[in-house]
Amino acid sequence: MKIANLSGRLVLVHQGRAVDVAEASAGRFGPDPQSVYARWAEFRSWAATVDLPGKSFDPRDLGAPAPAPRQVFAIGLNYREHAAESGYQVPDTLPPVFAKFSSALTGPISTVELPPGGHTDWEVELVVVMGSRAHHAVPSWEHVAGLTAGQDLSERITQMSGPAPQFGLGKSFPGFAPTGPWLVTPDEFNDPDDLELSCSVNGEQLQKGRTRDLIFSVPVLVAKLSAIVPLLPGDLIFTGTPAGVGVGRTPQRFLAPGDELVSWIEGIGELRQTFVQGGA
Ligand code: ZN
Repeated sequence: MKIANLSGRLVLVHQGRAVDVAEASAGRFGPDPQSVYARWAEFRSWAATVDLPGKSFDPRDLGAPAPAPRQVFAIGLNYREHAAESGYQVPDTLPPVFAKFSSALTGPISTVELPPGGHTDWEVELVVVMGSRAHHAVPSWEHVAGLTAGQDLSERITQMSGPAPQFGLGKSFPGFAPTGPWLVTPDEFNDPDDLELSCSVNGEQLQKGRTRDLIFSVPVLVAKLSAIVPLLPGDLIFTGTPAGVGVGRTPQRFLAPGDELVSWIEGIGELRQTFVQGGA
């Protein structure tokens, strides 16, 4: 099953067409995309019974599949080659965890303002959306509603400024957390633990990896995070990026006005960001 946020309304997506959930369920489920995760099991049972043709739509009208999560976790150094290019050792028992603030979330197609004087970098990431509360959970897919594509856009100067890093702020400028184009449930994949992901700038591929190379897999991340913080329905986990970010290149490379960034995950789809210079 795929669900999306179409102009702020929850829709089921099937073969490129959208069924409005509030209309098809006669109001049993509301139009708000975020509220469905609190009733995920009930919603899935209902959605399995829906057999409607749906309507065509413009992908530019898609918003974030989970636009107002209570918590947005992001994982650092979760691929070996990315840890190496970043100059860090591979984490052993717990990866670095930081927050992306939810005001940075957008849908899959957007224009992003580059912070003036900054070094804005790309990080394609698999993003988990939680479908039920998890606290002290064992490693499993049980609590996961589905997967979507994400970009953990990062302004490196802010991120690394001061005596201790500023990951949360450096990665939370407006528009720095595009997600989408929809949420795909784990059963839709041959193997949800092994998906190719990539990103390109102006047609040049700069990152390419597979999620089987995650040091901490999706089920393990759910267990590790929930050992400390209860994970809530609709929460997001950005699972980390593979090698190929701009800050790890020689010479370093960052996004410039006019650049187009395309991020893609197998079985999910793509994000498309264009960049303009922001003001002070
Ligand atoms: Zn990241």
